Amino acid sequence: MPVLDFKEIPEAHKATGLQDTFELFARDFLSFMGYKIISHPDRGADGGADLIVEKKRTGVGGETVVRWLVSCKHKAHSGSSVSPTDDGNILDRVSSKKCCGFIGFYSTLSSSGLSGVLEGIKDRIEFQIYDRERIEKELLHSARGLEVAERYFPISLAAWKTNNPEPAKIFADEPSLKCKVCSKELLDKDDKGVITLWQRIRTDYENEPEYFEHIFWTCRGNCDRALSQNIRSKAKGLTDGWEDIADVMMPTVFIKWAISILNELHRGTIYSDEAFNQLKEFLLNIYPFVCRHLTDKEKERVQSLMMIPSYLGGLGYEG
Ligand SMILES: [Zn+2]
Repeated sequence: MPVLDFKEIPEAHKATGLQDTFELFARDFLSFMGYKIISHPDRGADGGADLIVEKKRTGVGGETVVRWLVSCKHKAHSGSSVSPTDDGNILDRVSSKKCCGFIGFYSTLSSSGLSGVLEGIKDRIEFQIYDRERIEKELLHSARGLEVAERYFPISLAAWKTNNPEPAKIFADEPSLKCKVCSKELLDKDDKGVITLWQRIRTDYENEPEYFEHIFWTCRGNCDRALSQNIRSKAKGLTDGWEDIADVMMPTVFIKWAISILNELHRGTIYSDEAFNQLKEFLLNIYPFVCRHLTDKEKERVQSLMMIPSYLGGLGYEG
């Protein structure tokens, strides 16, 4: 599904002679892509050239500079593709502006008719088409691209950011949780792994408080199993509980988790010094991921988690 809604950029206003936002967007996009802007979009008649840009190219014979004529067509509001009539006389326009390449910068797609025309002249000039799909792909995969996108597509970007959260910048150091077994950074992985909490098995539930001996975080699967075997062979009388780290990173689950830990402490649960320090380290490193809205996917996940009996009890005030 497309992320950027090109209708956020207003339609061209040739009649008012105002600089068109779409052309300004083309200028910012191409300079983000490393092109040097030779002639800026300006008012009034443009003689078939919205922009002229240059890019250095390094080849066998050294460095050459390629000059491109840029043609901007903003048809997102009608939704129709760019036809040979919309973008005519490409060859003449390119040579009259002393360029050797043509860039079509389109908020929709190029029609098959136009693609045919371009194929027919590709022996004489180079061409590139930046259509809505290619523009979006380029912008969304870098921080600088996102800045450009945010300027021209504020509504689209706000929705996208909610569903692609970045950790908030809260502490001087980047958050980090390294797998106890293989030392890989869990926060960089798609699957953030699991946190396991090891407590002493109680014989007298009435009078014996819960006692947490160790807290560890590891990759899911092999590392988790290796650690588990190691602990069980070394220390008898311990049992483990675990949580998906990605679950605890969800704002709603995080606060429920924190509150239930407070409740346990209040009831007399004991943590070893080591376990308590680990718990604090975990919460501190998860926190930057938590300061945000829920993504749409998480909203569903939280709802299904709340259906599980152990999660019932709202935010855990009583549990
Ligand atoms: Zn690991």
